[in-house]
Amino acid sequence: TTARQRHTGSAVFAPAQAQRIADRRRLDLALRRALDENQFHLLFQPQMDLKSGAMVGVEALVRWQSPELGLVSPADFIPVAEETGVIVALGDWVMREACRQAAEWASTVNISVNVSSIQFRLGNVVGTVKRALAESGLAPERLDIEITESVFIDNDETMRGTLESLRALGVTIALDDFGTGYSSLSYLSKLPVDRIKIDQAFIRTLPDPHNEAIVESIVLMARRLEKTVVAEGVETEEQRAYLAGIGVELVQGYLFGRPGLPEAIGLVERAERSTIAVSA
Ligand code: C2E
Ligand code: MG
Ligand code: MG
Ligand code: MG
Repeated sequence: TTARQRHTGSAVFAPAQAQRIADRRRLDLALRRALDENQFHLLFQPQMDLKSGAMVGVEALVRWQSPELGLVSPADFIPVAEETGVIVALGDWVMREACRQAAEWASTVNISVNVSSIQFRLGNVVGTVKRALAESGLAPERLDIEITESVFIDNDETMRGTLESLRALGVTIALDDFGTGYSSLSYLSKLPVDRIKIDQAFIRTLPDPHNEAIVESIVLMARRLEKTVVAEGVETEEQRAYLAGIGVELVQGYLFGRPGLPEAIGLVERAERSTIAVSA
């Protein structure tokens, strides 16, 4: 747009911009239809306890199998869903579906669910979580909600209250992608979060002296604040050994497993197990 077009308010866009808007609009419509037509599914990635080596939790990660576009990565559709607000309905589905499935598993591992800052702003996250817990019968202690620092950007006090309401239900809160934002030490100490998930950018690149300094500082700080540390993006045995050495409690990454279907990571349904027991 030229200055004159902006000034007169004429709706003349540069072709590239018009194309971009048309693409977004198409994607928005496709996402809404995808929800109606059940084109989303969840994959689960193991979270391991470093000391025992046991799988103690899984993170639910949404996937979109589009008839036209094929398998679409959340990195491509979550930002659009956030821009258009579809994330509220999609996030609601993810929460209910994750709780429903987890309640069926024979194993009582924790289930971590990502909740976008837009859901907090536009939706009713506490209502969604209450409903998901009630209809699934999942023990609230098994549910962990992953948020990012962006939730605190414009409404600090409201957010604090919302997070306290969630914790009052018995669920835990994890601060995802930690270290990429601008949280100061004093700021973090006041946030009602139970876990700190160190961003994979600092983990995947290990060994690296700069990132080691950052990771070790986060671990020290978390310990003083009595928060659990999760390291994500662990890809090598060398990284695992290093993180164990500095006292990181939980780890997640390709070394332990990529996001997969429940059966692929040993999460069998309770009903299936009893069937096997009966027929044996
Ligand atoms: P995230 O919540 O930080 O999830 C971790 C991402 O890192 C996942 O990508 C996972 O597959 C990937 N990852 C895990 N371990 C490794 C590793 O060792 N190496 C590498 N290179 N990558 C690893 P994914 O599934 O593509 O999801 C990307 C992002 O999309 C998520 O980042 C999250 O921000 C968003 N997302 C995914 N599912 C949902 C959802 O249900 N709701 C919302 N609001 N966001 C979601
Ligand atoms: Mg996450
Ligand atoms: Mg993350
Ligand atoms: Mg993320």
